[in-house]
Amino acid sequence: MKLFDVYPINHINIVKGKGSQVWDNNGQEYLDLYGGHAVISIGHTHPHYVKRLKDQLGQIGFYSNSIEIPIQVELAKKLGEISGKEDFQLFLCNSGAEANENALKLASFANGRKKIIAFTKSFHGRTSLAVAVTDNPKIIAPVNENPNIIFLPFNDIEALKNVFEDEGEEICAVIIEGIQGVGGIRVASEEFLKTIRMLCDENGAYFIADSVQCGYGRSGKFYAHDFSEVDADIYCMAKGMGNGFPIGAISISPKLKPWHGMLGTTFGGNHLACAAALAVLEVIEQDNLIKNAETVGNYLITELQKFDKIIEVRGRGLMIGIELPEELSHVKKDLLFKEHIFTGEAKPNVIRLLPALNLTMAHADRFLTSLSKFV
Ligand code: PMP
Repeated sequence: MKLFDVYPINHINIVKGKGSQVWDNNGQEYLDLYGGHAVISIGHTHPHYVKRLKDQLGQIGFYSNSIEIPIQVELAKKLGEISGKEDFQLFLCNSGAEANENALKLASFANGRKKIIAFTKSFHGRTSLAVAVTDNPKIIAPVNENPNIIFLPFNDIEALKNVFEDEGEEICAVIIEGIQGVGGIRVASEEFLKTIRMLCDENGAYFIADSVQCGYGRSGKFYAHDFSEVDADIYCMAKGMGNGFPIGAISISPKLKPWHGMLGTTFGGNHLACAAALAVLEVIEQDNLIKNAETVGNYLITELQKFDKIIEVRGRGLMIGIELPEELSHVKKDLLFKEHIFTGEAKPNVIRLLPALNLTMAHADRFLTSLSKFV
């Protein structure tokens, strides 16, 4: 059997990693500034992470939804503390799409409504409701089409107000990334997020913060939505939460009340996933990584703005988009094959940086030096 051919593949066999560095089977070293799409939050093979997972594997992996699992309670407590939302409630699942899917379903259960507002260039996942609120017709199969979704231009306050004025009583929820990732690293304005909060409150709709890519400290705050200083009702997370181990979650405001059987999953919140997520939070806390994301991220953004040929540098903290002229679309490949640096892309001419939150200044400088050879 061969792999289903859905991704363009470069034949590089990565066999080892440490921090922001990885090595291929020939011993060639690479700098990883993409972290498998924002998945690597505390660096490859962090010793605390490896130990916690190994210890857990040798101890217990017990599946039950009829007894309390202490490691889930511990994770909820730690996440509440670090995210500053101690009164929120945690539901654990396995991926970003599943987190968003559950958040939308929960909102609809809570107010009994169907209409969802989403935004242009959004990405929320590939399962049926998550893909329906994603602005990318290429990945929506006919079975996923959903007439209840209203797409509005990102950051357009007037358009938002108009829809709420016309059909506010029917709106179930608004779902928005604090910084759009796949859509090209676009920051939601603080004013926009505040307006969403206000309109949701006035109309009985819920504010869902998709923090799957921009959350978990990446922006220099725990949730990128925190820049607006308003709380969302549900925060969705995954990716960096497990540093490579699959886990997703939603953090739910106390105003939403559960009932038994409302949400569920077989693997969500298993011991290994919780151990991974706890190890990540412990390292983020001990090593002050949210601050590091802010410091190294701001440094990179400032330095990148000095490049004449770069059209625009967007983002916050260690979530950075570098828009290049079309004729420089080859730079991502040059960085990989000539400089041995992994980056991502949003469009061929937008380079995306989503490195580990403990990226060093030296590694940031190495990237700037390499980039200056092509830009
Ligand atoms: N939301 C956002 C903002 C994402 O970037 C992604 C993945 N790119 C998802 C949701 C879906 O996450 P997953 O692939 O874990 O389902």
